[in-house]
Order: sequence, then structure tokens, then C-alpha cells
Amino acid sequence: METITFETSQAYAKKMDAQDPLGQYRNHFHLPKHSDGKDILYFCGNSLGLQPKKVEEYLIQELSDWKEFGVEGHFHAKNAWMPYHEFFSKKLSKIVGAKEKEVVVMNTLTTNLHLMMVSFYRPTPKRHKIVIEKAAFPSDKYAVASQIRFHGYPADSLIQLAPRKGEETLRTEDIEAVIRENGEEIALIMIGGVNYYTGQFFDLKKITEIGHEVGAKVGFDLAHAAGNVVLKLHDWNVDFAVWCHYKYLNSGPGAIAGAFVHERHLTDPDIPRFEGWWGHDKNSRFLMGDTFEPMASAESWQLSNAPVFSMTPLLASLELFDEIGMEKLNEKSNKLTSYMEFLLKQTDNDRIRIITPAEVKDRGCQLSIQVKDGNKGLFDKITEQGVIADWREPDVIRVAPVPLYNSYEDVYSFVHLLFDSLND
Ligand SMILES: *Cc1c(COP(=O)(O)O)cnc(C)c1O
Repeated sequence: METITFETSQAYAKKMDAQDPLGQYRNHFHLPKHSDGKDILYFCGNSLGLQPKKVEEYLIQELSDWKEFGVEGHFHAKNAWMPYHEFFSKKLSKIVGAKEKEVVVMNTLTTNLHLMMVSFYRPTPKRHKIVIEKAAFPSDKYAVASQIRFHGYPADSLIQLAPRKGEETLRTEDIEAVIRENGEEIALIMIGGVNYYTGQFFDLKKITEIGHEVGAKVGFDLAHAAGNVVLKLHDWNVDFAVWCHYKYLNSGPGAIAGAFVHERHLTDPDIPRFEGWWGHDKNSRFLMGDTFEPMASAESWQLSNAPVFSMTPLLASLELFDEIGMEKLNEKSNKLTSYMEFLLKQTDNDRIRIITPAEVKDRGCQLSIQVKDGNKGLFDKITEQGVIADWREPDVIRVAPVPLYNSYEDVYSFVHLLFDSLND
């Protein structure tokens, strides 16, 4: 990112918005309103992205196609339901840096994590450990711990990466040391690409390299990374990845999730998977044969036919991502978040501090603001005044200025509300 000298005035925020080439995209979203009728200051796109305006039209299309065609909608709907999942491959592959055949939309996130571990966590008495961050999202920890138990290995097969004393985030050199130390015993490294709590974006390329050097498989949960940071899953040689689409990808609560399987694994007969009819070669699927013939793509991990209604919002959202491209989006994201960081540093009040890495390359758009005394009162105060952010126990306010729909003025207003509440 070029170095920008930010300024503290509101006029500056307005000027930045006026010059923002992506500024008009805010109009493509519904912004929730505060009780005073003004737009909410929405900074929770890392938890549930806002609704693209096109979603309603697209959903009504599916409802009316169902009404009009019944089962024939599989072929005659405007977007035929039979190949519905295929409509996402191209646009989605660009978002995560993959080949089209390496991505698939299916199920929900934690389900996909389990399905991927069925294939890529193949423990043996010598090599049975899984490496994860200690502060991983709870669902990921439950998933890996239960896989270990499922295979009959003890709880200490889980290696948890913890920051150094007095530090909040992990150093790549420390991750490397743990991996090398346990090298021959590690079956799988499974880390959240961007940590949900601190907002730290790990060096996925490096972690994958080191993991492969010691003979482990490497997979990532990209719930907080997909649509937020630039990813190159194929080039980085990642074995598998999973993510959801309701956070930065704006596809609505509980939306369909995504998965990536690297090309080199796609037709490897030694990699087992749980199978269902939608993973069967589509050319012969309806011959209803007895033996499973897999698609030569990540689609072979699909179990069931497409849940169209939970996929439709993703169509509307991906159109916007495709129009802009992740590089441009990321450019604005870096600016907007650095601007928020700059404003937050204008206070000398030591009740708050940012625990997200200061290096732009080590984070996405989220900043995690630690409240020193762990007092949630500060968060409640800004909430009352029309901010939607979130509080994560024990002491963090997470704020995500999302480049698709947040403005510089949103950021300005938020920081000033926060400062006012700090001084109350
Ligand atoms: C949001 C999130 C989840 C949620 O999992 P679901 O299966 O979609 O409910 C899991 N893991 C991470 C890292 C997340 O950020």
C-alpha cells in the first residue's frame, strides 16, 4: 500500500468518500436504520454481511420458477436448478485464488470442515497430531478434537499454538518452530486463515510450505478470510480450505458454504471421502448405477443436490465481487482500516488498545479493540448510539470496516462516538 498521510477532520473523511472509486457500491446494499432514522454504523460484516439489494429479486425469481415449473425447474428455471452449484465456480475461484474445478459450494462450514478432514486427516500411530491455534474459533476446535477422538487418539494429539507471554498474536517463526519440533507426528495443520478474535492474517503460504516439508497436510478455515483478503490457494499449494459465505460474502444467515481441494488431490484414488450422488460424474448420475464414479473436481465431495434457496443470495453477492475484483477491494480495505487505526491512535486514553497486527499484510479489514478493564459498558454505550460492532469475551470489541459498503465517514463517526463514550 502506498503511504498515505491521513487527516483528522470530518471534511477529510467526506473528501475521501467523494474520491473513493468504490464509494457507489454502498448503494448496492440495504443498510439497517437506527431508531432515529439514520443509517446504523454497521461494522459487523465479519459476522453477518449486509444484504445486497439484488437478493430479493433473485429469490423471487426462484420462487416464481418453482411456482411455474414445479420439478421442471431443474431444467427450465431461469437459472436451472440441476447445475445450480456450477454458477458459482468461476467467480468464487477468483475470490480464493483457485482453479474453477478446485472449488465447490455445498453444505455449511463446520460440515465441510469435517468432510475435508475425512479426506485429509488420516492419522496413524506415528503421525496423528493436529496443529491449530489455541484461540481458534470454538467450532473448529470442537471439530478437530472430535475427529481425533473419532479415530481413537488421545486429546493430547491436538497441538495448540499460543502467543508468547504478553503478546496477543502468533509469530510465524514460533508457528514454524512448533511444526518442526513435532514434524513427524503431525498429520494435519488446520488454522483459521484470519483469526476471528485478533484479526491476524497468517502467512498461509509459509505455513503450507513448512507443513509440507514435515510431511503434514495443510488446510485452512477461511471464514474470516474469504472476500476479505487476497488469497492464492492454488499457488500456495494448500491441500484444502473451507469457508462460509454469510460473513464477508454477504449471502445471508446460514448461507451455503464453500470448499477448496487442490488440483493434485482431485483424482487421487487414495484419498477417501464420504460420498453422495451429487459427487457422482454428472454424465452418468441418472443412470442410477451401483458404483460411485467421482467427478474429476471438488464437486466430487458434494453429497446432495443444490439447496437453491440458500445459494441464491450468493449469486447476487458474487456479481459485485466479480465486478470489482479482490485486488481493488483489498486496496480500499487497507486504506479504510489504516484510516480507522490512525484515528483510534489520536487518543491517549489507555483504556483501549488495538491487538490486531499493525502491519497491513498481517491483517484483513477487522480491528480488534481491547478494552483494558474488560468492562462491556463501553461497548453497550456505542451500541445505544447506533453502532453495530461486536463484543467478544473476555475484553474485545471487533470492528470490521468493510470496503464494499462502509465509508470513511462511517469510520470517522464511529471513532468519535467511541472517544465520546470513553470520556463520559
Ligand atoms: C463463523 C465461523 C464458524 C461458524 O461455523 P458454521 O458451521 O458456519 O456455523 C466456524 N469457524 C470459524 C473460523 C468461523 O469464523
